[in-house]
Amino acid sequence: NIKNREPEMSRLKGPAMSRRTFLSTTAGASLIALHPFSAHASAGQAHLRIMETTDLHVHVWPYDYYGDRAVDTVGLARTAAHISDIRAEASNSMLLDNGDLIQGNPMGDYIAYERGMKAGDMHPIIEAMNVVGFDAATIGNHEFNYGLEFLMNSTAGSNFPFVLANVATAQGAGPRDDTTLFQPYVILDRTVVDGSGAEHALKVGIIGFTPPQIMNWDRKHLEGNVEVRDIVATAKAFVPQMKEAGADIIIALSHSGIGPESGEMLENASVPLAAVEGIDAIMTGHHHLVFPGPRYEATSAVDPEKGTIHGKPAVMGGFWGSHLGVIDLLLENEGGAWRVVSHESATRAISKRNEDRSITALVESQPDVLEATASAHEET
Ligand code: MN
Ligand code: MG
Repeated sequence: NIKNREPEMSRLKGPAMSRRTFLSTTAGASLIALHPFSAHASAGQAHLRIMETTDLHVHVWPYDYYGDRAVDTVGLARTAAHISDIRAEASNSMLLDNGDLIQGNPMGDYIAYERGMKAGDMHPIIEAMNVVGFDAATIGNHEFNYGLEFLMNSTAGSNFPFVLANVATAQGAGPRDDTTLFQPYVILDRTVVDGSGAEHALKVGIIGFTPPQIMNWDRKHLEGNVEVRDIVATAKAFVPQMKEAGADIIIALSHSGIGPESGEMLENASVPLAAVEGIDAIMTGHHHLVFPGPRYEATSAVDPEKGTIHGKPAVMGGFWGSHLGVIDLLLENEGGAWRVVSHESATRAISKRNEDRSITALVESQPDVLEATASAHEET
C-alpha cells in the first residue's frame, strides 16, 4: 500500500509532500510494552538488552543510488526507529555495531574517491552512528578496502570506541603481546537498574574480531603494515584477561559468519568462538543473513530457532540496516558476581515482503539521522 517512494526527500526539500502508509503503530512510548525480563526482574536481577547493527555498508538513507530511487529495505535511519522503541522496552540497553561500515555503496565510493577523508573529516556513516548513539563497534573486512589511513581517519570521528583483537601492527609472542591496530577490547562501566529499581555497577566487556582473510583480500593495503591472528585463538587469549580486568559479562563482536564447528584461521568462526569460556553473547555478521532464522541449519551447536550457538545467545541483523539484532539477557547478581540466568535472541526487520512481492515499510526514518548525512547523500 505504499505508492510514493520519496517521503524522506520531501521532508528535507520542502513542500512537495508525499503521503505514505507505514504498517507500524504510531503509538507513543507510553504504549510500548516492557519486555518480560524488565517487567518481572526481581531485586538483584537486571534486564540488559543488547542491540546489533551489522554490515551497514554506508547505508544510512533508505535509498538505492544505482536506481536513483528511495527504497524501504535499507538504511540506518530506518533501523534507528526500531532502536528508539526497543530502548523504551527495557530497563537497560546497549547498542553495538558489528562492522563493514565504510564501504559498499556509492556514498562510500563518493567519500573514498571524490570527497576524500583527510584527518579531521567526518565520514557520513560515522556521523549517522554518532546521532543514533552506539556503545561500541568492531571492524569488518571491508573497512580495509580503502587503505589504513582512510580507515583510521574515518573511525577517528566516532564518539564510541572501536575494538578489534586479531589485527596487529606488530605481533608479539602471543595475542596479549601484540600491538593491535585498534584496542582489542573495552570494558564499559555501566549502571543497570534491577527489578526493585536499585542501581548496580556493571562492567561490560566487548571484544571484536574480523576475518583473517583480509590479508589476502586487501593485500596491497595490508602487507607489511598489519598481521592477523586466528579469531578463536585470539579470543582464548584475551577473554581471561578481560575477566581479570573485572568484566562482569563479555560480548563478542564477531564480524564473522556462522560456519564450521572447528578449523584454523576460519573466515566464519562464530561457532567455535561461541564455545570460548567466558563469552556470554555473540553478535555475528559478514554473511549478510538473519539469525535466528531459517537460513541456517540446526546442528548440535547451532539452534536457528532459538538463536543460540553452543547454548549462548547469538544474533545476525541482516545487512544494510535491514534488521536490528536483539539479545535480551536476564542477569542475576550473586554475591557481587553477575551471571546470565535467561536469554532470548531475535531480530526486527525494517520492511516486509508481501505475497505479491511488494514491500511494506515497518518503520519510518528517523529525521535526525537523515539530516546529519543530508549533504553527503545529496552530493552522492
Ligand atoms: Mn558485509
Ligand atoms: Mg564482511
